[in-house]
Amino acid sequence: MAEGIRTVMDDCIFCKIARGQIPSKKVYEDEDIFAFQDINPQAPVHFMMIPKRHIASLADATLEDAKVLGRILALSGRLAREQGSPDGYRTIINTGRIGRQEVQHLHVHVLGGPEPFGRMMPRSA
Ligand code: 5GP
Ligand code: ZN
Repeated sequence: MAEGIRTVMDDCIFCKIARGQIPSKKVYEDEDIFAFQDINPQAPVHFMMIPKRHIASLADATLEDAKVLGRILALSGRLAREQGSPDGYRTIINTGRIGRQEVQHLHVHVLGGPEPFGRMMPRSA
């Protein structure tokens, strides 16, 4: 397949991490998926799972991406257990401006640890 914009982005930090061009603490890797520790963890367990192929955000995903996105979700429980969150975890996908996405390569945050989190969203404005 020709390497287009959705395959490799030269100036994308997460493409570089997936290719090993920027160091990261790897959690898991296969042909299509890379998982690594968040550099600024927000919980005792905090890693990210990304498709190796560049997809800018969940809003940019198409049905062609369904398989890798399904595999990421299906693998998240095993990796969360292995990373020390056996009793559940929270997945977060920040998307676009409204979702306050900071890195423009689709990533699934997996957060966990020994204690339950607070509510998902504040109740008041
Ligand atoms: P977002 O706000 O886009 O959902 O999350 C971006 C996440 O990427 C943040 O949690 C941030 O700590 C993490 N991050 C940004 N740059 C790097 C990096 O170079 N290495 C790693 N491991 N994580 C990063
Ligand atoms: Zn990328």
